[in-house]
Formats: sequence, structure tokens, C-alpha cells
Amino acid sequence: MLTYIVLLGPPGAGKGTQSKVLETKLELPHISTGDIFRENIKNGTPLGTLANAYISKGNLVPDDVTLAMLRERFLLPDCKNGAVLDGFPRTPTQADELEVLLHSFGGQVNLVLFITAPVETLIERLAGRWTCKAQGHIFHEDFNQPRLKGVCDIDGSELYQRDDDKAETVLNRIEIYQNQTAPLIQYYQERGLLIEINGIASIEDVSTQVMSVLHMASSSSHG
Ligand code: AMP
Repeated sequence: MLTYIVLLGPPGAGKGTQSKVLETKLELPHISTGDIFRENIKNGTPLGTLANAYISKGNLVPDDVTLAMLRERFLLPDCKNGAVLDGFPRTPTQADELEVLLHSFGGQVNLVLFITAPVETLIERLAGRWTCKAQGHIFHEDFNQPRLKGVCDIDGSELYQRDDDKAETVLNRIEIYQNQTAPLIQYYQERGLLIEINGIASIEDVSTQVMSVLHMASSSSHG
């Protein structure tokens, strides 16, 4: 069966971190549109150059570009059982497009985990966030330190601070989230797919909440 789980929430809520946990536990690929853009920027591809003009300011990359990229990603063999989506959809229009796309594979969004945290927490987390260059694993200089400074515990690659985690860009990203992405809360609530997760707790506690929600969702879908 195809399973598609969407992680929704403001930047810094913990979507990337929890997606990595889900990826391991559910054996589904973690698809982060932000990570794919950053990979393209790093490799200097035309897509990367185009996307960087938006990302560096904290704005959204145009839908046609993002959607074409996502469509290609879904065609890779590791998506044969579904995926954990992080950072897509970001608007109700993208959610409509996602529905059509998943339909074409015979799937649909099965569950939306909405991770919440207050703005002060988001800013604090983004300002101290360190991201792994190879696979986007996430650390924090105070709350989730790597064993060795500047090195990813999981794959040994270098950790760096994202340009768009700078204070001025962060505020714009949070504003864009509130104006353009937050309407998805109602969108998915109306479809009975949204479950809220309190993102303030420690990474382990949030993961425990996520896993218990998944457990409940899978028992209710089986009976
Ligand atoms: P993220 O890693 O999810 O925080 O995304 C980083 C940046 O990539 C965002 O601030 C946007 O500029 C861009 N981006 C990621 N996902 C999308 C999307 N679904 N639609 C438009 N832009 C996106």
C-alpha cells in the first residue's frame, strides 16, 4: 500500500528532524523540497540558480518549478511505497496539485502531522541550527549538539549554517508561513487528515508523540 505522510508546521518546528525519524521507522524516503533545492544550489545546476534567487530571501520558489521537481523525485524507485513529505505542500494550491499528482500514482495523502511551536522558540531554534551537508540531518548548538563540533553524528559530513536561517530571512519565512502555508491547517482539517503535535518538547518526546499518533492512525485504518 502507498503511504504519504505530510509534515506541516512553521520553519523551525521540527519537521525535518521528525521526518528523519519517520524515514527510519517507516522505511519511507524523506522528501524535503528545501533539501532538493539546496542540493541543486550546491551543485550549481540551473534549477539551483533559479531557486536560490527566492530561497536566499526566504520567499517561495514558483509552483511550476517546485512541482516539476517533486514529480521527478516521486518517480525514483525508493518512492515505491510512498514518502514522508517535508516542506511540500506549502500553499493550498500546492496541496491541490499534490492530490492530483498522488492520484496519478494511485495514492493520496494519508496523514498530516501539524507540528506547532511559538515564534520565540522557532527563532531560537533556527538561529542555532546546524545542518549536515550530505543528507540534511539537523543539529542545534544548544539543544541537540553533535558529538563532535561541526561533524554530523550520522554520516560524518560537515555541518553548516543555512543562509536562510539568518535573523532577517527567518522573520520573512515565518511571515510567509503565516500568510501562505497556515491556511493548510484548515484545508487538511476539513479533510479529516490533520493531527496536531506539540513541537515544544524535546526531540525524543516529540518523536514519541509522532509514533503514538501513527500507531493510532494505523490501528483505526485497519479496523
Ligand atoms: P525548507 O528547507 O523547507 O525550510 O525550505 C527552504 C526554502 O526552500 C523555502 O524558504 C523556500 O524558499 C523553498 N521551498 C521549499 N519548499 C518549497 C515549496 N513547497 N514551495 C516553494 N518554495 C519552497
